This record gives sequence, C-alpha cells and structure tokens, in this order.
Amino acid sequence: MKNAYLQKVYNEVLERDPDAPELHQTIREFLDSLEGIVDKHPEWEENGILERFVEPDRVIIFRVTWVDDAGQVQVNRGYRVQYNSAIGPYKGGIRFHPSVNLSVMKFLAFEMILKNGLTTLPIGGGKGGSDFDPHGKSEGEIMRFCQAFITELYRHIGQFTDGPAGDIGVGSREIGYMFGQMKRITNQFDAATLTGKHLSYGGSLVRTEATGYGICYFTDEVLRNICHTSFEGKTVVITGSGNVATYCAEKAMQLGGKVVAMSDSNGYVYDPDGIKLDVIKDIKQKRRARIKVYADEVPGAKYTEGCRKIWDIPCDVAIPCATQNEVDVEEAKKIIAGGAVCVTEGANMPCTLEAVELFQKAGIPVSPAKAANAGGVSTSALEMSQNSLRLSWTFEEVDQRLHNIMRGIFKAAYDASVEVGQPGNLVVGANVASFLKIADAMLHQGIV
Ligand code: NDP
Repeated sequence: MKNAYLQKVYNEVLERDPDAPELHQTIREFLDSLEGIVDKHPEWEENGILERFVEPDRVIIFRVTWVDDAGQVQVNRGYRVQYNSAIGPYKGGIRFHPSVNLSVMKFLAFEMILKNGLTTLPIGGGKGGSDFDPHGKSEGEIMRFCQAFITELYRHIGQFTDGPAGDIGVGSREIGYMFGQMKRITNQFDAATLTGKHLSYGGSLVRTEATGYGICYFTDEVLRNICHTSFEGKTVVITGSGNVATYCAEKAMQLGGKVVAMSDSNGYVYDPDGIKLDVIKDIKQKRRARIKVYADEVPGAKYTEGCRKIWDIPCDVAIPCATQNEVDVEEAKKIIAGGAVCVTEGANMPCTLEAVELFQKAGIPVSPAKAANAGGVSTSALEMSQNSLRLSWTFEEVDQRLHNIMRGIFKAAYDASVEVGQPGNLVVGANVASFLKIADAMLHQGIV
C-alpha cells in the first residue's frame, strides 16, 4: 500500500488477528480501494475512523449443545460478529457449514457493512453461524440444533439491535425453527428480527429469489452500460445449486441467457441444451439429493466429480455462486480463455484478489459480491419494513423495489469508480461509495 495511514491500519489488523486469512483478504481489498481518496479526507485519520472501522463492535462465541438421533450429546461452536452499526442495526445471515471459523465470520460480517451501506436501507453489518454440518442430518436433528443455537443467540439480537437471516446451510426451514424457539422463550411474536421467514408467518414475497434475481439485475446493468450488450443469447456458467445459484439461473434464463452448467460441493453437471431448472429444483430443494442425479435423469447431460473443472466450460458470463475463494488464478485463466465478457461474484468473495486482478488486466469487468449480491439483504430489509407496517406487498411491488435498488447500487458503484479516476472498476467503486456514507455517519456520531 502506498499510503502510510492505510498501511498502518492494515498492519494493526495483521497484528491483532494474525490467523485470519479471509479477514485480511477482504480488508486488504477495501483499504486498497481507498488509495485514490484517502488524502482528501484527513478527518478519517484525525478521528481514527479506519482504526475503528476494521475492528468489530463485538464478537459473541458460544457453545451449542444438542442431542442427536442416537441419543449422543453433540457440541458445536456458535458465533455472531456484530461489526458496525453506524447506519442501522447489525444485519447479516447465519451460516451452518463445517468450514465456519472466526476468520470466516469476521470476513463475512465486514463485507456486510459495506454491502448494506450500498442498499440505501438503514442496516449495519453483522454475520453469524456455526461449524455444524447439516449434510446427512435428520429433520429432527436439524430442528434440535437450530433450537439450541437460538437459545443462546436470542439474547444478543432484536429488531433494533441485530437481525439475522439465512446463508449457506440456513434457509426458511432453519429460520422457522429458530423463530419458533425464540417466540417460545421470549413470549413475543417479534417478526422483524429474523428474516427469510416462510410466507405464512411474515416472510416477504421475492425474498427466496432476491439474491439470485438481484445478481442478474446487476449483471444486466454491467452488460448494457459497460459491455454494450445484453443477456440475450449469452452462455452462462453458474457454480452452486443452492438458494443463490438456483434463482440466479432462473433470472438469467428469463433475461435470455442460456445456463449450461451448475454444481454442488461434490461435482458439476453440464447440459449443452441448457439446464432444466425444474429438475434442479426438484433434486436440490424437494429431494435434497446430489446434483449428479441430474445427469441420470436428463438425456445429453454429463456429470463430472469434483468442482474445479467447471471453468473448463467456455462461457460469456461467469457467475460463481457457491462459496469464498472458489475462483483462483488457475480458474480465472480458464474463464478468460473461454471468452467471458464479464464476471459477477454471486457468492461472497468467490474470487481471490489475484483472480480479480487478472480479470481486470484482461479488461473483463468484475462485479464484486458486496454490490452484486446485495439484493438478498435488501429484500430482507424490505421484509422487516413489511413486518413493522404489518402489511404485505405483492410480488411485483417487492420485485420492482429490488430491481430499482440493484440499478441504484450499480449507478453508485459506477459513479464512484469514475470519481476516483478508475471508470468501470466496480470493486473500487462499491467500496468507495459505501464507505463515504458510513464514515460520514461515524463522524456525526462522535468517538464511540
Ligand atoms: P446454499 O447452502 O443454499 O447453497 C450453497 C451451494 O454451494 C450448494 O450448492 C453447496 O453444495 C455449494 N457449496 C457450499 N460450500 C461449498 C464448497 N466449499 N465447495 C463447493 N461447493 C460448495 O447457500 P446460498 O446459496 O444461500 O449461499 C451461496 C453463497 O451466496 C454464499 O457465499 C453466501 O454467503 C452468499 N450469499 C447468500 C445470500 C442468500 O440470500 N442466501 C445473500 C448474499 C450472499 P451442497 O449442495 O453440496 O451443499
């Protein structure tokens, strides 16, 4: 880093959290983005804004004890990182996956601050989760785990404090079990705390589809305004087959794209005729089976074990939607060689810093996750609004708001990229646009 203040802040992060590679990666990207403007804002250093911004307000770590179907006591670790509440109550999902640790939680919570700052909605940044692995667990085990998890977490959250939602391994089924247990403990129907609820008790229309739809609305803006083309006739490769990937595929198809490959954590399917999404939904959502079943049931489709080779398939639009750091330099080279015109981060930080750099050098616009996948949390905030109003909006109304928000995020990120002299660099633009707002809020609130 060229700027001494930015370097000092980064060194402090490295010293304080030496074993947090994911956190270092996201903070490095953020601080690099400020190189072009930090000198214009001496008030940041005078008020310790960046030092405060990189350190979470609070980290909660707790034991989760539950009993499996065999009657054995099981212990997992739970987390909630409440990172920054300058512009609103902490908001961010809950992830259940064996790879969850403090570094992953902090990186995801840090991303949420900047993502939420872009949405124009009053929400701060947080994230939570557990190293619990939902794969292969029975319905009863999932319910008992969720109940045990929220029995500790409920005392730290609330609609004016911190509002969790879903993420990897946590969908409306898990949110329902947590909501039910929280209601039992508190004797309050507090609908606006947990979002991603089922429609029958306060969920919002479009929330299920929102992250994936939003990713495509954002990509559509990039295709039109930067690449001067559209989704029409484009070949699209999407990784993952969970919530984000499924509805990203749905909207990409609605906008005229042809999705030819999707994956899960075991491998990927390639269907040259275009993926049949109803089959994917049936396999992953209804049967909770593996994606390889697709190739058994759809003639002409091919399954490959292992995820890395998916990027051997040439595509115009690459949208990694599974997990962090799935696209490294090797994969980036394949995506470039395959002729991609743009790359959109559907998952949180799916591309390494080096991969992003390669795309940028090749002149391929990269849409960073904090901008492109902000449709999920935006619609979560719209769910909270409806809960507080005790009203439900129609599908069309929520979808229209989502579309407008995604257009607004693209414009804010693009305009900021122009302002800092790097037109079209949406990675820098998204960080700058969001941080200017949050830093301003922090300055107005004094040294806290
Ligand atoms: P899901 O659990 O619904 O789906 C995740 C998908 O990715 C599954 O297909 C899963 O495979 C696959 N996957 C998970 N981990 C790995 C891994 N280590 N290697 C390969 N594949 C993997 O999660 P979501 O769709 O909700 O989340 C996906 C990404 O999007 C995450 O980065 C999340 O943080 C981000 N995100 C999610 C939002 C939301 O609204 N849900 C909002 C914004 C961002 P398998 O089926 O085998 O488990």
